Amino acid sequence: MRFFNFIFPLFCFILLIPSIAKAQDLLTVQNVFFKSSQDNTAVVFVQIQGEPKFSYFRLDDGRIVLDIENSKIVKKGVIIPTSNSNIISEIHFAQNTPDMVRVVVGSDVKASYNISKVDGGILISVGSSKPLLSLANGITNEAPKLLPYNYIPEKGQLANSQNSQTNNNLYPPIKNAKIIVIDPGHGGSDPGCVANGVEEKVATLGVALHLKPILEKMGFKVIMTRETDKDVWGKPYNMPGYDANESELQARVNIANENGAALFVSIHFNA
Ligand SMILES: [Zn+2]
Repeated sequence: MRFFNFIFPLFCFILLIPSIAKAQDLLTVQNVFFKSSQDNTAVVFVQIQGEPKFSYFRLDDGRIVLDIENSKIVKKGVIIPTSNSNIISEIHFAQNTPDMVRVVVGSDVKASYNISKVDGGILISVGSSKPLLSLANGITNEAPKLLPYNYIPEKGQLANSQNSQTNNNLYPPIKNAKIIVIDPGHGGSDPGCVANGVEEKVATLGVALHLKPILEKMGFKVIMTRETDKDVWGKPYNMPGYDANESELQARVNIANENGAALFVSIHFNA
């Protein structure tokens, strides 16, 4: 399949990105603080050592999701506010991927909010579209000061994501996540092409398993046609001219079509 001679160099490029990210030091998310006011506003202050890059989005049910890039958390946790505050239900914070901390703030979908970079971390204000600096005052030793923040995440990075790694409770399924189907070529009884004892089916699965978490981190939902060394059987048709190989390839494509995939990536090496 000549098509994949073009696709493969793209994978090499994508696979390089995480190794660059890991070379940098991770920021430390030290703690998460909560404070509410009688006027139905609240703040969540995420205390961070270092200069954070972050992105955020809101789920249909009102939860506010903050992703802090290139960061590690000292201690994951949950804050459940006392009953006199009903604007925020729960606050969860945890390491979501090896180099990203996620904070999820449960809030009424109708409540406005603001996320700002402040001195010493990130301030999430709920019940206001402006940063509630005075409410945040005293949450830690010093009053948070507003800092300029112009970082625009790369396209696809505003993660409408579902992730199979740690803390599934922080990754609720999102209806609108774009689906990519990865198809590791061959498998099971079909080794694909064999050279120097290396079977194509092993190499394609290896690349696919590396690619999956990378795409998930970019915000895609990933479905694999196989995750182990097995055949992807087509339907056993009993008709004249039935071709087992053709049927198997069709079975793989069907997985993409049935899941409404935006992209179908079939991985092969020279066969
Ligand atoms: Zn092949």
